[in-house]
Amino acid sequence: MNRIHPLTERQEYLIGGYVELSCARCAAQVRVRKSSPQQTSVQWSSRATRQCPALTSDEQLQTPAPTCPDLRRSIQHAVRTGSLGVT
Ligand SMILES: [Zn+2]
Repeated sequence: MNRIHPLTERQEYLIGGYVELSCARCAAQVRVRKSSPQQTSVQWSSRATRQCPALTSDEQLQTPAPTCPDLRRSIQHAVRTGSLGVT
């Protein structure tokens, strides 16, 4: 039932420059866009939000912009390997 998709780092969205990435640990799939070297936007789908244990922890729910530390690493990796560029 729950099909897990292979890594789709290179699957780029034509609209808005978003790239689909999945978290290295929980495999939640999100869309990421870098508008500058410092600025990263992450779009969480409701399914990804439920899938990521880091995002639903009590600690994270207290913060204004909860994020997954493993996903952050995936983003850095994508930047280094060139699959996520500044758009
Ligand atoms: Zn995660």
